[in-house]
Amino acid sequence: MFKAFLIKYGEIGLKGKNRHLFEDALCKQIRHALRKIEGEYLVTRDQGRIYVHCQSEYDYDETVHAIGMVFGIVGICPVFIVENTGFEDLKKDVIDYMRQVHPEANQTFKVAARRANKAYPLNSMELNCELGGVILDAFPEMKVDVHKPEIMLNVEVRQKIYIYSKVIPGLGGMPVGTNGKAMLLLSGGIDSPVAGWMIAKRGVKIDAVYFHAPPYTSERAKQKVVDLAKQVAKYSGPIYLHVVNFTDIQLYIYDKCPHDELTIIMRRYMMRIAEHFAKETGCLGLITGESIGQVASQTMQSLAATDDVSTLPVYRPVIGFDKQDIVDVSLKIDTYETSILPYEDCCTIFVAKHPVTKPNLNVIRKSERNLDEKIDALMEEAIKTTEVLVVS
Ligand code: ATP
Ligand code: MG
Repeated sequence: MFKAFLIKYGEIGLKGKNRHLFEDALCKQIRHALRKIEGEYLVTRDQGRIYVHCQSEYDYDETVHAIGMVFGIVGICPVFIVENTGFEDLKKDVIDYMRQVHPEANQTFKVAARRANKAYPLNSMELNCELGGVILDAFPEMKVDVHKPEIMLNVEVRQKIYIYSKVIPGLGGMPVGTNGKAMLLLSGGIDSPVAGWMIAKRGVKIDAVYFHAPPYTSERAKQKVVDLAKQVAKYSGPIYLHVVNFTDIQLYIYDKCPHDELTIIMRRYMMRIAEHFAKETGCLGLITGESIGQVASQTMQSLAATDDVSTLPVYRPVIGFDKQDIVDVSLKIDTYETSILPYEDCCTIFVAKHPVTKPNLNVIRKSERNLDEKIDALMEEAIKTTEVLVVS
């Protein structure tokens, strides 16, 4: 029925002179999303409007779903595009549209015409009145409501004429690739995939690091992280997932440092290694799934202790979220079912019975001096043996 979609975008419009860069990025992401499904599509940018033209048979639901995964879109409007062959034809087209799209024909409506093509003989006001009258004549049970219409019938007169009334909500945000790149510390839990998704939604490209501790953590635990990265990548585009073998560092810390400080010190080494890869790949920040007070390692003092080792900004988009808020997002983005699979992670295995909740930085730094002898070599080895998987 529909041969095209009008793509509505929000904040991109605020970008002044850079606007076309954002629009281009959005077109690129839409093309990328549509490449994954069958059908031929043409994505065009025209006078501040982006259209997806369907040039072959296509599946409506699949197409809307694919476009709906692209960040930067606030609404997807299935649109009728008709030739501009005079007002008599337009009347017929509008009736035809209403009959096909709103067959109930008993709702309230308003016509919102826009004459972008000033050569058209009727102006916007005249179009509103005339077309409103035409609809009332054809569908006696319809009523006009200019304040809260159930159907807002948009008629845009350009070279061609665009008729639409449905707006399918998009995810919002900004197109990926318009705001630099960041390195996500991705575990198998609920929080970090959500954190990565949220930053990607702001237009940031994502790469990821996972700290693996075989044989304490299994291949299946690793596969779970790969699966989570895959799900996030459906929105964010391909993710370079760095799988770091963290066992020797963990065992060394376990051997040399007070056990109540293990989690904090481990976390500090994770940050250091993540930062290494971040800098190597041009990332401008780190991302974690931490939320204040969720566990001992996420008190204000603990967060300060992990921040202490990073020279890059650490982004924690779920910092003020309750667990349920995070779960809600993970359900929406479809990572939840994978996140709750019961595979162990390296932090739960080496966790102390009574971890410090208010670590003192000087004390932690002092404990880390116990590692002086071998830690540099172990870090180097971990970095050298890191496996990089391209997940898409
Ligand atoms: P998540 O649900 O993301 O696992 P969590 O509530 O289990 O978070 P922690 O285990 O304390 O919290 O981890 C806090 C953050 O540290 C995680 O959100 C993640 O960003 C990072 N992190 C923890 N473990 C790992 C790991 N094995 N590999 C990579 N990052 C990790
Ligand atoms: Mg975790």
